[in-house]
Amino acid sequence: MVRANPGRFEIDCLTAHSNSQLLIQQAIEFLPGAVVIGNESKYEEVRSALSALPIKVWAGEDAISQMMEQESTQLVLTACMGYAGLKPTLAAIRAGKHIALANKETLVVAGELVTALAKEKGVNIYPVDSEHSAIFQCLAGEWSNPIEKIYLTASGGPFRGKDEAFLKTVTKAQALKHPNWEMGAKITIDSASLMNKGLEVIEARWLFNLKAEQIDVIVHPQSIVHSIVQFTDGSMKAQMGLPDMKLPIQYALAYPERVKNDFPRFDFLNYPNLSFEKADRKTFRNLDLAFEALNMGGNMACILNAANEIAVDAFLNDNIGFLEMSDLVEKCMQKISFIKKPEYDDYVATDTETRNFASSLI
Ligand code: MG
Repeated sequence: MVRANPGRFEIDCLTAHSNSQLLIQQAIEFLPGAVVIGNESKYEEVRSALSALPIKVWAGEDAISQMMEQESTQLVLTACMGYAGLKPTLAAIRAGKHIALANKETLVVAGELVTALAKEKGVNIYPVDSEHSAIFQCLAGEWSNPIEKIYLTASGGPFRGKDEAFLKTVTKAQALKHPNWEMGAKITIDSASLMNKGLEVIEARWLFNLKAEQIDVIVHPQSIVHSIVQFTDGSMKAQMGLPDMKLPIQYALAYPERVKNDFPRFDFLNYPNLSFEKADRKTFRNLDLAFEALNMGGNMACILNAANEIAVDAFLNDNIGFLEMSDLVEKCMQKISFIKKPEYDDYVATDTETRNFASSLI
């Protein structure tokens, strides 16, 4: 987006966890004031590659959080994977920076704390997740009109229509082949298991201040309708387009403006049939587990998320089967101590406790 819109955006800081080569390449192209590499063992490599340029180089996770305080920064795009996004996102909100949120787990784990802090600091959280961007776009101009219900669309992933017997034996190579979206490994597995939709239900609850009963999931295999808002008069608004993450990223960065681009356009005649069907919640149990966590509140969604991160990792390492991921999440939700009103330290402790327990079961 920054490359496509020269002069519109200025990058203050770029960070990466361990992909030093891409960080170096992007730093050379966009000349940010500073870069941070999370993995400290790669510091020397990044520093020496950028030594001829006026770019400060830092390393370590604390440095990422510290960079959020830079005065010149107006907006922080958080695109960490999983629970790791919570701490730097909170640091950015505390420093009063608006957030473009690509890291849904931040709201899943600690939505109450994050949204309360954002409110206190006058910080806007712009969704980057495509479904939530769709809801956000449908709400433009409707801020004072109550929402009756939202429908989050789900592609159904590569295993839509498959039964338990089939899912017992699927491999990670099969699970990593998403029909419509090109994404990282963790979110692709989450899409195949419908956990991604479960996490998105919880994310939507916090982003749009909804009750669980106001959120529904509908399977839409073509991924053209990105989500739908139903208002109190029964009218529904949907946001549509080809599945391409560039659009929600651009909307979050340029909001409230729409920026001209030359991305491919949707053609109705290429999609004469857009279809919708019920999610198979009996086979794909993660969706119900996520609703259960949402209804329980407290630290339950934090437990769900931590267990799922361990489960996905174990599946990707061929240590457990596809359906065992839900079993592991459910066992953790039953076993880990429930805290009704968690503080930040409780979330940290819950995350660690859940990871240890989940790992012990593998
Ligand atoms: Mg999404």
